[in-house]
Amino acid sequence: MSARAERLTAELDEAGVDLLLVTNLINVRYLTGYTGSNGAALVGVGTRAFATDFRYVEQAAEQVEPTYARLIAGVDNPSHDLPTVLTAAALPDGDLKVGFEQDHTSYAAYGKLRELMPERIELVGLSGIVEKLRRVKDAGEIEKITAATKIADEALEALLAGGIVGKTERELALALEHDMRLRGASGPSFDSIVASGAHGALPHAVPRDVKIEKGQLVTFDWGAIYDGYCSDCTRTVAAGEPGPREREAYELVLGAQMIGVAEICAGGDGKAIDRAVRDVIDGAGHKEHFGHGLGHGVGLEIHEAPNLSPRSTDTLLPGDVVTVEPGVYVPGEFGLRIEDLIVVQESGTKILTSIPKALRIVD
Ligand code: ZN
Ligand code: ZN
Repeated sequence: MSARAERLTAELDEAGVDLLLVTNLINVRYLTGYTGSNGAALVGVGTRAFATDFRYVEQAAEQVEPTYARLIAGVDNPSHDLPTVLTAAALPDGDLKVGFEQDHTSYAAYGKLRELMPERIELVGLSGIVEKLRRVKDAGEIEKITAATKIADEALEALLAGGIVGKTERELALALEHDMRLRGASGPSFDSIVASGAHGALPHAVPRDVKIEKGQLVTFDWGAIYDGYCSDCTRTVAAGEPGPREREAYELVLGAQMIGVAEICAGGDGKAIDRAVRDVIDGAGHKEHFGHGLGHGVGLEIHEAPNLSPRSTDTLLPGDVVTVEPGVYVPGEFGLRIEDLIVVQESGTKILTSIPKALRIVD
């Protein structure tokens, strides 16, 4: 984990700052290992400092990477403001440029920070510095995402085996989340989507108190968190024999999704991969029925870099973990989506999702 701070200082050099004040908790976790709900870090060449409050003294002692000085608000400093504690104890001498995470800093927090910093400090708002490091996963991180995927896959298989017709979307979503926790997840990686019939035309549908009926397509989009890392998968199944329009759309999305999966590789272009899949769906007359991006990175957060979409500027790198998730959404009628989670490797890829994709008819 100390290699992460080394990689960060190289990024800071490139960004033209001496230090970075890290206040986003996910970024703090990534750098230091700390998983509590109040913590911040200050990192630069020769500077590794972490601050939290009294409630987390023991947790910090256990989790925070030993190269970081550990500071406790109210003990090492009378203030309870973590940037105050960090800068009072760990700022080197001289004129310095200190970066802060502008995407995670409120206007009020910035004002306080400016007030607190001595004149000699120039504050520089930076975006996506730690996120850039987080994008490429190491073997340990991929292991955790793999474990999260396995939990989620097993939970869906168990759910489908128990039957879905006559159960409500809400019941199924809750059962899925309950089962993932029993299998070792700390929770779902986002609010599970279970959407049947016309409701499936909403890509981010919220489960309703509505029973699944025979003949409907039912979309499940769900994931588990294991040791901080997320999984993400979508499967659409048919509750009994579907109509010809639904079946045709399913085969179309499946074919397009498989083209997308095959296009994933180190060096692949996020925009071109999206295009390759979109062309298939557009060409079948569903241009206006696929309005979201093809995929996204997954890690400590459910949505992170890189991006596969018409607006993407990303080129895939070994260690990226990305989804491929085209869909077709016909308003008022039905919707469907198929999503796999994939690791980009030096050569080739590894598909983490193990649930079969051929249209499954369940009771
Ligand atoms: Zn998903
Ligand atoms: Zn997704």
